[in-house]
Amino acid sequence: MRILDPTISVVIPIHNEMEVLPEFLDKQLLPELDKIKNYKFEIIFVNDGSTDKSAEILMRYTEKSKRFKLISLSRNFGKEPALSAGLKYANGKAVLTIDADGQQPPSLIPKFISKWEAGAQIVTGVRDHFTKHGLVQKMGSKLFYWMLRRMGNRYTVPGSTDYRLIDRVVVDEFNKLSEHNRITRGLIDWLGFRQEHIEYTYGARIAGKPSYNLSKLFHLAIDSFISMSTTPLIIFGYIGVIITILSFLLGVFVIIQQYILGDPLGLYWNGAVQMAIFITFLIGLVLISQAISALYISHIHAETQGRPLYIIDKGKSKNL
Ligand code: UDP
Ligand code: MG
Repeated sequence: MRILDPTISVVIPIHNEMEVLPEFLDKQLLPELDKIKNYKFEIIFVNDGSTDKSAEILMRYTEKSKRFKLISLSRNFGKEPALSAGLKYANGKAVLTIDADGQQPPSLIPKFISKWEAGAQIVTGVRDHFTKHGLVQKMGSKLFYWMLRRMGNRYTVPGSTDYRLIDRVVVDEFNKLSEHNRITRGLIDWLGFRQEHIEYTYGARIAGKPSYNLSKLFHLAIDSFISMSTTPLIIFGYIGVIITILSFLLGVFVIIQQYILGDPLGLYWNGAVQMAIFITFLIGLVLISQAISALYISHIHAETQGRPLYIIDKGKSKNL
C-alpha cells in the first residue's frame, strides 16, 4: 500500500465538448471520484482551443472549487500536446488521463487505482475489441497495429488507449522528453516501467462528434510510424536490393543466352528489352542508395528527438 491520502491528478483534454461536459462531469466522473475515499483528486482540464462554450463551462467548475484547474491552450494544438500540457502541470502521486466524451467509463477508475496500489507504474486501458466507428477505421486500426509490430515496435499493445493511470516516477520521466512530434501512448510505452492493462469496452459518445476524423487518424498513424520507428525508410532499400539482384541476373542471362550461346531459346530480345533490364538495374541501385541516406537521416532523426539513452528506475536501484 502507498502512503495515505496522496493526491491523484485527473487530466482531461477538451476540444469543443460543451454538449458532453456537464453530463460527463456531474453524472459520471465526479460521482465516481467521490466514492473513492483514500485519495484526494485534482482535476486538470486542458482546454485545447475550443471554439464553443466549453471554456465557460470549465470556468464555472474552477470557480466552485480549487480542486479544478484549467489550462487553456492558445489554440487547438491537438490531443497529444494537450495531454503533455496536463501531465506537466499535474501534481499528484499518480496521473489519470481520460477523455471528456464518456467513451472511457469512469467506473473503472477504482480498478486502475488498485492495480497501481499493487505496484504497477503504468496502468493502460485497452479496448477489448474494436467497437468504434466504421469498417474502414476498424480495419485501419488492425492494420496499424499489425504494421507497428512488424516494424519492430514491441512496446505498443494493440488497442491501448489514452485512458491510463501513470505513476509520478513515470510522469517525471515523460516530462523530460523534449521531442515535438509525439504520440503520448507510444512514448509512455517506450519509457518502460512496470505496465499492466485493463480491458474495457469503448463506449459510445455521450453526444457530439469525435474530433478525430479519418484523415486525422491517418496522420496520427503516420506520425506513430515515423516517430517510433525508422523501418519504413529501410523497406525501400530491401526492395532496391531485390530489384538489383533480379535485374542483374536477368542481364547475365541475356548476355549468355543471346551473345555467347547465340539465342538457342529463340527469344529475339532486342535493344529495347535490354535497355529496360539495364534501367531496372539502375533503379534498384537508386533505391539502395536512398536507403543508405535514409540510415543517415534516421540517425539524425534520433539525435534531434533528443531522447535519453536510457531511463533509470530509481525505485529498483540501490545505493546510487
Ligand atoms: N481532443 C483534444 N484536442 C483535439 C481533439 C480531441 O483535446 O484536437 C480531446 C477531446 O475533447 C476528447 C479526447 O481528446 O476529450 C478524445 O477525442 P475524440 O473523442 O475526438 O477521439 P476518439 O474518441 O475518436 O479517440
Ligand atoms: Mg472519443
